[in-house]
Order: sequence, then C-alpha cells, then structure tokens
Amino acid sequence: QRDRMVENRDLPAVSQDGHAIELLSNVNGVPDALVSQSVGASGVGLYRTEYLFLTHPTVPTESEQYENYRQIIEQAPNRRVIIRTLDLGGDKQVPYLGTHREANPFMGWRSVRLLSAYPDFFQTQLRAILRAGQAGDVGLLFPMISTVEEIHRLRRLVDRTRMELTRGNVPFQGKLAIGVMIEVPAAALCIDQMLDEVDFVSIGSNDLTQYVMAADRDNPKVAHLCEPFHPPVFRLLRSVIRTCNERGKPVTLCGEMAGRPRCVLPLLGMGLRRFSMSPAFVPTIKALIRKIDLKDCIPIAEQVTRLRRADEVRAYLSERLRAIC
Ligand code: PEP
Ligand code: MG
Repeated sequence: QRDRMVENRDLPAVSQDGHAIELLSNVNGVPDALVSQSVGASGVGLYRTEYLFLTHPTVPTESEQYENYRQIIEQAPNRRVIIRTLDLGGDKQVPYLGTHREANPFMGWRSVRLLSAYPDFFQTQLRAILRAGQAGDVGLLFPMISTVEEIHRLRRLVDRTRMELTRGNVPFQGKLAIGVMIEVPAAALCIDQMLDEVDFVSIGSNDLTQYVMAADRDNPKVAHLCEPFHPPVFRLLRSVIRTCNERGKPVTLCGEMAGRPRCVLPLLGMGLRRFSMSPAFVPTIKALIRKIDLKDCIPIAEQVTRLRRADEVRAYLSERLRAIC
C-alpha cells in the first residue's frame, strides 16, 4: 500500500485510452486535508463540517469556523475544497441544539431541514464559508436536498448573507459555486429540475442507497439490503450521471462507492469522471484507472443494470475486476 502510494502520488489519473479522471478526497478535519496531499488527490471533494461541531463543546463562533475552513483550504491539494454545510441530525446530534428523539431519525429532522428553526446558526456558517472562500477554489455544498423549494430558500439565505457582508465591509468570495447533494431519491428522480438551480451536484451514494433500498445504513440486520450492488441503485445512478453529462453540469460521487474498485468500473462506464473518497483509497483507485480502458467499462455499466440480483452483480463485478487487473 505504502509503495503504491509513493509510486503513483504524482502520476495523473488517466486511463489507458487517455481519459482524465478526477480523484478527490473526503475529509472530516485538518489532518485529513494533509493526508489528501500525500496520497495524490487533486482536491477535497467533500469537507464534512459537522465534525468541527461534534468535537466542540459549544457552538463554534464565526471566527473559529472561519479559521478552520481557511486551514482546510490551505492544506488541501491545489487549495480546492467543496465545503458542505452542516449535516446534523439523523445519527449526529450536538448538545447545544438540544436532543430530539425521533422514531425515524434518518427520515426526520436532519441537515438543511433544521434551517427554519435555526436560521442564525446556518447564516453564521455561511458567513464563515464565504469569507474563507477567498483562500482558494471553493464550492459550497448543501446536503440532504429533497425539493427545489429547499434550494430556493438556501440560495436566498446565501444572497442575504452576501448582502450583509458587503454592507459590513467584510471581504468575502463573491463567486462561490453552489451545489447540492443528490442523496434523497426525490432529488435523484427530479435531477433535471435540480440542475436548473445549481452549478454542480455531488451524489451521496451512502444515503442514496439507504433511501432507495429503505434500509438503515447503520443497522447490521439490514446491511444486506443497504448496499450498492442492488440493480435499482445502479439504475438510478446511471440516470443521474447521464442527465448531468447531457446538461454539462459537473457531477461527483462522494459516497463509499467511489473508493471501491468494483463499483468504480460501472460508474466509469456510465460516464462518471469525478470521484471523491476517503484519502486512503485514492492510491488504489488511481492505480486501477491507470490500468484500464474506459471503453471496456461501458458494457460493464450495461450489465449491472440488466442483472436482477445483488449477488449476481457482485460476482460479475469481481470477475471483471480480476480480468482487468
Ligand atoms: C453520502 O451520503 O454518501 C455522503 C457522502 O455523505 P455522508 O456519508 O456524510 O452522509
Ligand atoms: Mg449523506
């Protein structure tokens, strides 16, 4: 592993037939951003800001957040970072928002759904992100989007925040790209409408899989259902990727699938060109890409959406991977 990392860190992620693939990293804090450099990622595709909040005894202030985001940007490869706004609730609770017991936390009051109750909280984060955005090439990403109305509302909040910063003479990045996560089936099914509202999208395949399969991602009893080899997951991903490519809107996949070689093959065949993963997986995925012809992935993508059973898909992909590597 270590040899492979040193060996291919500075090599481009280009396939045998000459297609450049972008390999980005998912980070939860500053140390991960440093690791992203050493594994040869070309940027941070997902910064999960909730860890800053989960590890803080009180609400991090605007300046504490600003400092943290700036450090992440400065440590990130090429100073490129997609910063995701808070994705709390579900399985992640912080004491200062009170504890909310819910029968179905993953289907409940999570993420941007907390916005109407805590607008100031969100706005403070936006101020910090807009200010830190001056330090590099930064995108702003909203998680758990289910409807176009949610995007409208968030965009209004961004506009208001920009106005306030301007009025207060606070320097900030005026041209941050704005994107949303596609991780709720509703958003995936209406991807064409979502794309009208944003500059880019990022597919959260962890949540998308749990919601498509109606199987809790943290419940071992249903783990056999919450996995991406089920044909409906690949079918939905194919449709999202295809629409994004037709519209020329950047699409990244940032769930665990991005770091799994067997999943990467059909995703490449579907036309996906950007993957964001835990830094540890970057060397393996880069080595895989450098070994393959992208055109060989097209029939693989077709086959995984034709097969009927997850075990068949898994066996087929294992066999293809062995044949290629
Ligand atoms: C996902 O849902 O796939 C994702 C990348 O976000 P998280 O794992 O933080 O929910
Ligand atoms: Mg998610």
